[in-house]
Amino acid sequence: MKLFSVIGTILLLVTNPLFASSDLTQIVEGLKGSAVQGGMVWGTANPDHKLYLDGAEVKIGPNGNFVFGFGRDAGKQATLRLLSLDGTATDQLISVATRKFNIERVDGLPPKTVTPPKSWLARRKIENGRVRTARAENTNAVAWLGGFQKPAEGRFSGFYGSQRILNGKPRSPHYGLDIAAPSGQPIYAPAGGIIRLAAADFLLEGGIVIIDHGFGVSSTLFHMNSVDVKEGDAVVQGAKIGTIGSKGRASGPHVDWRINWGTVRLDPLLLIGKDETTKD
Ligand SMILES: [Zn+2]
Repeated sequence: MKLFSVIGTILLLVTNPLFASSDLTQIVEGLKGSAVQGGMVWGTANPDHKLYLDGAEVKIGPNGNFVFGFGRDAGKQATLRLLSLDGTATDQLISVATRKFNIERVDGLPPKTVTPPKSWLARRKIENGRVRTARAENTNAVAWLGGFQKPAEGRFSGFYGSQRILNGKPRSPHYGLDIAAPSGQPIYAPAGGIIRLAAADFLLEGGIVIIDHGFGVSSTLFHMNSVDVKEGDAVVQGAKIGTIGSKGRASGPHVDWRINWGTVRLDPLLLIGKDETTKD
């Protein structure tokens, strides 16, 4: 067989959904990413099938791609179920590694942002609703497959999962990776996608952008000083989307980068291949 036709055959095998596996053991063996609290996991399966993670459907795209994630407090085991066209179901357990999270104290925050006044309630409801709607997008785009890059140069100053004590008050855990950098420095798209939310002045988030990378995977960027994109824009990985700022609940200039799979919050650090969870 000539080299050319060998390459052709290989390409056909990896791109043709008909060759994506219908065997759950094989699908699990082919999983990529990290089965860990805050981790994202992806793979391929025959798109004629249905896939469920702990009973919730995981979309298999037309080319057989799927992705799912584990939240900060995910249990030690999850069940993956594959349902074939004829109704045969197979189950397989996946072990999910647990983690220890640090305590982070942040002082010097504007007091209103730690204990928001009642007068903020109505506006917060609208802002939270816009965030939820943006993160609920679930297209067949696969920008999440190409990997992620950090949105700014700077010092990692806050980590996913840490228990937060804000101005001395215990608050809910932190779900982002904070990167501290001087105000006005550029912020770049961590991966390509469609801008689903772009707003200059949310009460707690300041300038906020949400990028839909496909399959329910999104990046959220907080505290931006300027927002240089608008809703509906398509961006490529590395495109400038705005600048570093300290708007909202922030004690200094930084960008807070979050990754979601639908409503499940993932750890951005795991997706840029760094383990610096114990460093400042
Ligand atoms: Zn943060």
